[in-house]
Amino acid sequence: MRNRLSKKDEIARFIKLSDDEAAGLDIAAAKLHVSITPHFFNLIDPENVNCPIRRQVVPTCSEGDILDYEDNDPVGEEGSMVVPGLVHRYPDRVLLLVTDRCGSYCRYCTRSRLVSNAQGYGFHPQVEKSLDYIKSHTEIRDVLLSGGDPLLLSDSKLSSILTALADISHVEFVRIGSRLPVFLPQRITSGLLDSLNAHPNLWMSIHVNHPTECTVELKDACNKLSKSGIPLGNQSVLLRGINDDIETMKSLIHRLLMMKVKPYYLYQCDLVPGSSHLRTPVAKGIEIIKGLRGSTTGYAIPQFVIDAPGGGGKIPLNPNYVESSTDDLWVLKNFEGKSFYYQSV
Ligand SMILES: *Cc1c(COP(=O)(O)O)cnc(C)c1O
Repeated sequence: MRNRLSKKDEIARFIKLSDDEAAGLDIAAAKLHVSITPHFFNLIDPENVNCPIRRQVVPTCSEGDILDYEDNDPVGEEGSMVVPGLVHRYPDRVLLLVTDRCGSYCRYCTRSRLVSNAQGYGFHPQVEKSLDYIKSHTEIRDVLLSGGDPLLLSDSKLSSILTALADISHVEFVRIGSRLPVFLPQRITSGLLDSLNAHPNLWMSIHVNHPTECTVELKDACNKLSKSGIPLGNQSVLLRGINDDIETMKSLIHRLLMMKVKPYYLYQCDLVPGSSHLRTPVAKGIEIIKGLRGSTTGYAIPQFVIDAPGGGGKIPLNPNYVESSTDDLWVLKNFEGKSFYYQSV
């Protein structure tokens, strides 16, 4: 963490910055801080300004292009924040934000408004109060720890939160959303694995966007997590020029399966201010899912979703396989475009 690259001159020592990137680094301080771990930085192609790794973490001046429909709170979390750091949007589950720090800062971050505190949000998560809220709301059966990156907490802090959750009998399922296995695979230590064992039913969602991120180090980290009994899923964000084609996506999800990671969600990029250069048309995501269905393992196919602006939650988008239907006759199209009839009762 101490060796992360943040400043323009540090980064310019290793890669030749374009004018666009140099300008981007000047405006980033007011949007979302720049910080890149050495592990992730080493995956950057120093000669290629379009490198898919580079474009995720090195800002460009396009971040200054703010569109009128972009929103600092793009998925409407503030409206459901019942305690600072606790978002209760769905009836049975909550999102618990435990820190505003990350290993590295993704330029399309949905929580750019608070993560890294570049905009002066002053995020002070109230974990004790959040745990009290969860305790008193017996309908909550699922708690998702996120942030910022929860794996930046100390082992002891993490285990104390997980122990507290394990002591709440109505909480059946706990998961951590973390990109540290990707940014800082060294974080997956035996001490951390012991702390994670403080909860008997802990799952983890990692965040991998491009096959290049699937390094030997990430594979080892995933293997350690799996071996200690933590099921793994992946959440990707569909990003223009980074992973918005079928071949790249196929390569990514195949590598994920080989690391025992289930591709879980593929997100349409949120309407984060200054992220339009990274967004794709919505139809692109549906086209990619359609291209995957039938041509690869069903387990490998993520659910494409839009997290709706205004706090509507995640809405699945799927290719249409129903040609027509009456009460009892369904005309279906398969992956090859051939029609099939299903007579229902
Ligand atoms: C994504 C999210 C969840 C978890 O949703 P799943 O579909 O169960 O993965 C819970 N709360 C909030 C606020 C979320 O954004």
